[in-house]
Amino acid sequence: MSIQTVNPNTNKVVKSFEEMTEKTVDAKVAKAQIAFADWKETSYQQRADLLHKVATLMRAKKTALAKTITLEMGKLLAQAEGEIDLSANILDYYADNGEVFLADKVLDPEYGSAIIRNSPIGSLLGVMPWNFPFYQVVRFAAPNIMVGNTILLKHASNVPQCAAAIEELFEEAEAPKGLYTNLFISGKRASALVSDKRIKGVSLTGSEEAGASVAIEAGKHLKKVVLELGGNDAFIILEDADMAKIVEWAVVGRMNNNGQSCIASKRFIAVEAIADEFIQKFKDALSKLKLGNPMDPDTQLGPLSSEGAAEHLADQVNRSVEGGAKVLLGGKRADRKGAFMEPTILTDLKPDIAAYHEELFGPVASFYVVKDEQAAIDLANDSNFGLGGSIFTQDIERGKRIADQIDSGMLFINHPTWTQADFPFGGTKQSGFGRELSELGIHEFVNKKLIRVS
Ligand code: NDP
Repeated sequence: MSIQTVNPNTNKVVKSFEEMTEKTVDAKVAKAQIAFADWKETSYQQRADLLHKVATLMRAKKTALAKTITLEMGKLLAQAEGEIDLSANILDYYADNGEVFLADKVLDPEYGSAIIRNSPIGSLLGVMPWNFPFYQVVRFAAPNIMVGNTILLKHASNVPQCAAAIEELFEEAEAPKGLYTNLFISGKRASALVSDKRIKGVSLTGSEEAGASVAIEAGKHLKKVVLELGGNDAFIILEDADMAKIVEWAVVGRMNNNGQSCIASKRFIAVEAIADEFIQKFKDALSKLKLGNPMDPDTQLGPLSSEGAAEHLADQVNRSVEGGAKVLLGGKRADRKGAFMEPTILTDLKPDIAAYHEELFGPVASFYVVKDEQAAIDLANDSNFGLGGSIFTQDIERGKRIADQIDSGMLFINHPTWTQADFPFGGTKQSGFGRELSELGIHEFVNKKLIRVS
């Protein structure tokens, strides 16, 4: 894949970038390693000051950065601004809390004393996707910079201007050279780089294929890896759910980021008693969404990130229909230029139909009617993924009991799966392993060193 900005609203190439040569990459990895030798000796205060500075710069440039996001991957501009705010909050969050999270843990041995000290491990490789081009990077980079590690970042090939802008923010904040480095390389080369002795760990957010590729390399070379892969989150609607709220949340849960979020609500599972009312209202709401240019504040649904992504999604819908699924709404590419897909609802899905198991990364909702609560739980669990999920009921204890029975990393009651700096993020099964954000995220790439005094 070439490294290019292609505006998905028009499918026109805006700007192309050269891939870095092996020699350039080698020099950058060397610089990151040299930077580590100094950075690991800095105080938490120095690290926090840098992260705060980057956050301040990010907020000051919010409009321009958000426009770059929207230009490159088609997110609605207001949502792109929201992403910049969230990313700045994450930088501040780790600057403010990192030292406490990383404080020595004092043990209580039978004699003498012992502590566990959290030490940095070196230069890390991040491989990040285009769907939240600032947030995904920051939630990996901020905690690790606080730990004392240095960052090499291979971003998705369709967001090179976002990738370069993040590096520039660190430069402008006067980060030491080599602390944060953007690498313009292919995914294949990123996987190969994992074997480099100077790289001590790797974190990837993206598809299962890309995740498996870096995990194989990490396994071969015995390196720590964190994977945040896809999801097929259930949105369970029980008979006592508050209808007005569910429909609103169902639209947000499925359509946020033009439907391209790993934690999007993808499988709407309603018990019989409430199913008809819900689906009628959900269909009405989706059919009214205004498609258009994501830079236009009136637009409610923008394009997918690329023509290839839109074609892939349309193919998944077509294969599902061929397999017996019914289209309740939409079902095809929108009749306009750009990488658009109509808001779509699929019904009559069975286990042998594509949309039952595959992740639909775009504005396509799968709708299921089930007999009762237990059938909803069983269906929610019948997935290779286990990222998030939501349960809508006015009986909170019932919601918690159901949450206990669903095999996924994050469960939300009366809200779609969501993210914020202080909530852990990550999944089970094919959705990957490890956690990002919160206190858990900062402990992924540290050496938990025991220091014993006898
Ligand atoms: P990819 O997994 O291909 O891209 C994510 C990142 O991984 C990019 O930086 C990409 O680089 C890189 N990459 C790709 N192949 C490899 C490899 N073999 N080794 C190392 N790195 C690699 O996702 P796509 O953009 O192709 O999207 C495909 C599907 O993946 C989506 O439809 C969705 O289901 C899922 N996905 C999930 C995301 C999430 O948030 N969990 C985010 C994005 C996608 P490059 O761009 O250069 O190929």
